[in-house]
Amino acid sequence: MLFDLHTHSTASDGSLSPTELVQRARLAGVDVLAITDHDTVAGIAELDKETLGSLTLLPGLELSTQWGSIGVHIVGLNIQLDSSEFKDALAGQQRARYQRAGIIAEKLKKKGFPDLLPAVIKAAGRATIGRPHFAQQLVAIDAVKTTDEAFRKYLGAGKPGDVKQLWSPLAEVIGWIRNAGGTAVLAHPDKYHLTRTKLLSLISDFKDAGGEAIEVVSGQQTTHKTRDLVTLCTQAKLLASCGSDFHQPEQRWADVGKHSALPDDCTPIWDIW
Ligand SMILES: [Zn+2]
Repeated sequence: MLFDLHTHSTASDGSLSPTELVQRARLAGVDVLAITDHDTVAGIAELDKETLGSLTLLPGLELSTQWGSIGVHIVGLNIQLDSSEFKDALAGQQRARYQRAGIIAEKLKKKGFPDLLPAVIKAAGRATIGRPHFAQQLVAIDAVKTTDEAFRKYLGAGKPGDVKQLWSPLAEVIGWIRNAGGTAVLAHPDKYHLTRTKLLSLISDFKDAGGEAIEVVSGQQTTHKTRDLVTLCTQAKLLASCGSDFHQPEQRWADVGKHSALPDDCTPIWDIW
């Protein structure tokens, strides 16, 4: 069975619609797919039985949270989408995103740029608004050549458009997931650039708050990295998850269903489902 439990569609910052994403997953031989868009479950609604075929779709999402001064992503899987408490929490998360977009636009104005907010809101459309939309607008006005350059110069950590501390605390977000019947997964633990001590502390706080699994595999990664994450996962007595973190077909190291294999010596998250 092939599980891909971390993917993005046009409902957030992915380039394929949920339908196209499911089609790509089926071609890649994925049996169980979670669409985990940033702070939204909107993409799931457009899928019908015919599109899914024999593929099992897990309702999921990737929530932005705050752990101290650090932004940490938590993937929620098997969420009950009709939970009203959960819907309220997501509405709050969307408000935080719009608030952040307003602050980023103000900061960029101070750097001499025109007000990008109207264009950014238009470009985001129904999708979750985020920094990639600012990056696209900076390219559109010829301020930078590529979206990567936009992040490097203006939107990344420590740059003029960087905005800190707007997400709900890690423990609270894990509570939303659990109260909606879901399983909380710590997404790509090595991508927060933490020291070993800090990473262990994050994993401990995550577990104390009710988190159940670590993403041991994120996209195509080295065996060395996988082994390290297996060690962290088993030491903490957590379950192991895996996914591509697919955003767009051009990122071939993160293509749907093409992530590295989850080693046999960790307990996969699907064992509890
Ligand atoms: Zn992701």
